[in-house]
Amino acid sequence: MTTVLERPIDFAAVHATVAAVDDLSPHLRRVTFVAPRIADVVTAGPDQRIKVLLSPPDGSELRLPAGDDWYATWCAEPVEQRFIMRTYTVRALRPEVSELDIEFVLHGVDGPASAWVSDVQLGAEIGLILPFAVDTTSTKGLLMSGVDYVPPATSVSRVLVADETALPALAGILEQLPAAVRATVFVEVPDIRDIRALPSEGRVDITWIPHTGGPTDGPKSLLEALKAAKLPFDVDYAWVAGESSMIKHVRRHLVNAVCLPKPAISFQGYWKRGEPQA
Ligand SMILES: Cc1cc2nc3c(=O)[nH]c(=O)nc-3n(C[C@H](O)[C@H](O)[C@H](O)COP(=O)(O)OP(=O)(O)OC[C@H]3O[C@@H](n4cnc5c(N)ncnc54)[C@H](O)[C@@H]3O)c2cc1C
Repeated sequence: MTTVLERPIDFAAVHATVAAVDDLSPHLRRVTFVAPRIADVVTAGPDQRIKVLLSPPDGSELRLPAGDDWYATWCAEPVEQRFIMRTYTVRALRPEVSELDIEFVLHGVDGPASAWVSDVQLGAEIGLILPFAVDTTSTKGLLMSGVDYVPPATSVSRVLVADETALPALAGILEQLPAAVRATVFVEVPDIRDIRALPSEGRVDITWIPHTGGPTDGPKSLLEALKAAKLPFDVDYAWVAGESSMIKHVRRHLVNAVCLPKPAISFQGYWKRGEPQA
């Protein structure tokens, strides 16, 4: 069945300037961007995805994409001449002051986005592709607007599984969690010092899995933690986001061992070990 979108969805590219840089923990850096058009940005949900655009590898100037067929044009260009494009989450939006925050994982200098943010200075310029119209009237509209966290309105008990790249989305999801909803949360972070408070009005139970600095007898992965956990009997929805092979294994466990129906699980690969994002 085809669902007709009720509202137009509109994404457009803008130049943005770095207005603030804050280290939240050893591996997560919040960057605040400012641009006049951010005043008109809208989001469809707490895990709203956007694109970060960096100058092409050949060092030429970043030219913003425009027109309906920009993606085909971009794909057809030689890799060295294409602007670099990576996906991130809107962590916070303050349209009244034309500001938007992204929380970047500092995973090293192998990736252009991580390398850029490792060295970022106030006043630096980049490109962002941002939503200016979204359709929140249907699940399909929400998905096409760039969110994956789409729990049914009737959901009362959710499992949320995230690695450090999905921690910004998770923080937003928990901030918006209704007081009556229970969330059983599993989060993997590079180091115990990356653990931080995640405020919520909901009933939240969080298990952190730090790669380093944690107890040596604790679970070593999100899958292990999930397998060891006694989940609430009434779980009706799951959101899983992070490294590609992790999300596959976690989803399989939720389907086969927890018996969640496949449509009740939203899962999204945020990155692939050993492979740059396309
Ligand atoms: C919907 C969505 C939302 C996202 N939101 C965020 C966000 O808010 N914050 C955020 O930091 N990331 C987020 N990501 C993940 C981010 O897009 C990837 O980590 C991306 O690969 C980073 O680009 P890069 O240029 O640094 O590395 P790439 O050039 O893409 O990759 C270079 C190398 O680094 C490795 N790599 C990539 N990411 C990591 C990592 N986290 N840890 C270790 N190795 C890595 C790759 O496997 C590859 O070997 C999101 C992704 C998606 C799909």
